Amino acid sequence: MQDLKGTILQKIKEYQTIICLRHVSPDGDAYGSAFGLAQFIKDNFPNKKVLVDGEPSYFLAFLATPNLVQQEDYQGALVIVTDTANIEQIDSKYWQKAEEVIKIDHHPNMIPFGELQWIDETKIAASEMIAELVLTSSLTVTPQAARLIFTGIVTDSNRFMYSKTCQKTFMLAGQLVATGFDLQSVYQNLYEDSWVNVRFKNYLLSQVVVYDDQISYVKITDEMLKEHAMNYETVKPWVNIMSNIKEFKIWMWAIENKVEGYINLSIRSNAYIINGVAEKYYGGGHQLASGAKIYQWADLEKVLKDLSSVIKNNIKYMEG
Ligand code: AMP
Repeated sequence: MQDLKGTILQKIKEYQTIICLRHVSPDGDAYGSAFGLAQFIKDNFPNKKVLVDGEPSYFLAFLATPNLVQQEDYQGALVIVTDTANIEQIDSKYWQKAEEVIKIDHHPNMIPFGELQWIDETKIAASEMIAELVLTSSLTVTPQAARLIFTGIVTDSNRFMYSKTCQKTFMLAGQLVATGFDLQSVYQNLYEDSWVNVRFKNYLLSQVVVYDDQISYVKITDEMLKEHAMNYETVKPWVNIMSNIKEFKIWMWAIENKVEGYINLSIRSNAYIINGVAEKYYGGGHQLASGAKIYQWADLEKVLKDLSSVIKNNIKYMEG
């Protein structure tokens, strides 16, 4: 592993232009790993051109803003894709124009891509891998870079709660905090909520449907979003308001994306392996946290049946 990290650092040193990429519909880990790595490179190699491509995220705007990356920028560039399981999920039109591609990820490596890959499914966050990469190097980790990487770890682990969080996660997080960034402002930006949002979350909880006793889901139509002056991007990440409810072993958000013309499914579990079902419906992800798509509401019942089969067949997640 040391060799792989060494090789990645060597590649970073070799290239003049480096473009950091992450997955579409970014979460904190996608932003944290891509922007954190980019910041680290900029801090240590101020003469290099370092860019982050992809659509901006409204709820992560407090962290960073993507660059306006042009096709020409990719010419001769090194691309580093973090936290992204497959090619379809890469948030970039031109990534294939790059000279060389490195994949750094903690998802199951179902569809490998890139000339060099560092995959570690044991890690709670791709940002934990970036933390390891930068903190074990002899280079400088500034508070600015540390703040981004820490945010990736704290969001994907749900504040160090999910399994795969281990002693090493805390150790790396501790080293990042020791750089002196403003920890309180990170937490405030991530977890402070408006009254309007909290009321809508409350409404969504009132719309929970229970399927086969152990599965909960909410059908969020475009009409519902419009009626409450809410939007897809804001509401999509809230699926975990159904977590920690004793009765529900699997919970799911089915949210209509009218612009893209599909219904996004965010599926979560605390006990059963659900990424097999996600893969069947144009998706994928982690064993306990996956995303998928359906194109008509009538297909929701099929997904629910498949999830129910996972429980009936006792396809359980095992630690380690
Ligand atoms: P989400 O429900 O969108 O937050 O996604 C949960 C996890 O599944 C994240 O790690 C995503 O990267 C992954 N994921 C979501 N959609 C897909 C997809 N279509 N293909 C592969 N992985 C996905």
